Amino acid sequence: MSQKQIYPIRCPKCRQEQEVELFDAVNITEEPALREALMRNQLNAVTCSACEFIFQIHKALLYHDAQRGFMLYWLPVPAGAEEAGERQFAEMLLQLAAQQPDGVPLPPVHLVFSRTELIERIFLLEAGLDERLVEYVKHLMYLNNVGKLNPAQKALLFNAQDSTPENLCFVVQDTTTRKMEAMLHYSRKAYAALAEMFHAEEKMRMLRELFPGPHISARALLIQQPDVATAEE
Ligand SMILES: [Zn+2]
Repeated sequence: MSQKQIYPIRCPKCRQEQEVELFDAVNITEEPALREALMRNQLNAVTCSACEFIFQIHKALLYHDAQRGFMLYWLPVPAGAEEAGERQFAEMLLQLAAQQPDGVPLPPVHLVFSRTELIERIFLLEAGLDERLVEYVKHLMYLNNVGKLNPAQKALLFNAQDSTPENLCFVVQDTTTRKMEAMLHYSRKAYAALAEMFHAEEKMRMLRELFPGPHISARALLIQQPDVATAEE
């Protein structure tokens, strides 16, 4: 079920404080229009009651696709506060588990720290892809492009729209300018071969060790352990 709550919000333009109803959780199976609002960047948008300025509140949001059976928790945290974010996520998971009806297991809950990551993960899961495998592919792309693709400055994003039956498409985004700079392709055949390889339990454990979660990101991993990226030079 979608959930809303009233929050006191101050307009960033005219400083007027007002009470605004914002979404804490959206169930897009029950209310598909909320998925569209999120995609159009209109979810939790506020029109100031005094000056009519339109602005957006980036706040914690639980996204539930009940039909496909996954949840995403978007927790906007400033750079460097990821560990605190993971602790907050663990507490939220306990609350969520306590609210589950008896005998109904909690679906997988993904943690993302930015709106970009949220949108990417929604498309990725809707396309039936595995988030750890996709991050593994990105990890390979970063390691194969050392010097050209610095994870501190360039994000790799799965692009569902330009993916084809032959290739998965990734765009390179500069994290400062937010410009999309290039497109990289990875063949679905190679992805299927990876999926096959990681199907073996021992290999799957390797993948889980590389990306233990809850925040699964090749870029974050390479930024935390830059020697992994430079060792290949
Ligand atoms: Zn205002």
